[in-house]
Amino acid sequence: MQGKNRSVYRGWHNKTSLPVKIIIVLLIVLVITLAALLFKDRISKWFEPDVTYPDTSVTGQADTKKTAESVPDGTEEEQKIKLTRISASDYDSSRGPLIIVNAQNAYVFKDGDKELLTDLYTSDHRGFSLASVSESLLPEAYSALYRMTGKYADMYGFCPIMVTSSYRDYESQEQYYKNNATSEQNEKYYEKPGYSDHHTGYSFDVKIYDEKGDSYSYVRYGMIKAEWITEHYMDYGFIIRYPANKAAVTGIDGEGNHFRYVGLPHSAYITENLLCLEEYENMIRRHGKDDPFEYEYNGIVYLVWYCSAEDGYIDVPLADDFTVSGDNCGGFIVTASKMP
Ligand SMILES: [Zn+2]
Repeated sequence: MQGKNRSVYRGWHNKTSLPVKIIIVLLIVLVITLAALLFKDRISKWFEPDVTYPDTSVTGQADTKKTAESVPDGTEEEQKIKLTRISASDYDSSRGPLIIVNAQNAYVFKDGDKELLTDLYTSDHRGFSLASVSESLLPEAYSALYRMTGKYADMYGFCPIMVTSSYRDYESQEQYYKNNATSEQNEKYYEKPGYSDHHTGYSFDVKIYDEKGDSYSYVRYGMIKAEWITEHYMDYGFIIRYPANKAAVTGIDGEGNHFRYVGLPHSAYITENLLCLEEYENMIRRHGKDDPFEYEYNGIVYLVWYCSAEDGYIDVPLADDFTVSGDNCGGFIVTASKMP
């Protein structure tokens, strides 16, 4: 075998003249070049990322170009989406489901706030009951509550969720505070007027009110009497705004029955990672458009990033599937989604 191999080797060297060798090599090069030209599009797709930042952003082209070039290979680039830049004046940083209202960040009251609310008593509330006839929420929060408690009622025939307190304007919070924060000891349980999450229109307190007419605290009995709600509220965009172990961060102790609408995927990430809203948004603020926070939930990949209101613009995806919410702390949070 060795001898035969050697003779083949010698044959190429000895029997083929130099001009023929050159022609053969040139032909091979020509074939490769032609093949490369013919399949150029297909080959380049192997190396190109699926999506890139465009050169067509309204302003700041240099910025987006730099981002595209600085990515070393296709793997990181795959999570990026095409962006454009819109004026921040189209949005209000004190509005949206991700606004934070706490002792440091007062709610910004505006004329016409109440006109946006959905009255719960006169609206369909098949899945939940009401402690009073004067309860209201913003449509997004009402819709999520309606779908959640309606689903529960469909499955079990009855939903024991009772809304005991929802939207409060300044005056009603003032009254509420006066009636309840009667001593230095219990002040910590109640927000001063202007600083209550109930001003947002995205929150409500609940109680368990069963078919027999007996009522229970959600915190104590929610796990048993409304177990499905406790397991699924995050799927409807809700969080427990004041987890018991987060009083040092939220400033509010003992309101484990206070639901707050923030929307997906935020509700899922906050709940699964046992965070409070303040902690979550502090984390999001470290993620700009070039380094979005990525989170996959129920088969959808979400990208979330922060834009400061001071910049005067917001970087948003070119596609329609995004939302912008103010954080009520001087910025905006952009949420985009894409299929994995
Ligand atoms: Zn509350």
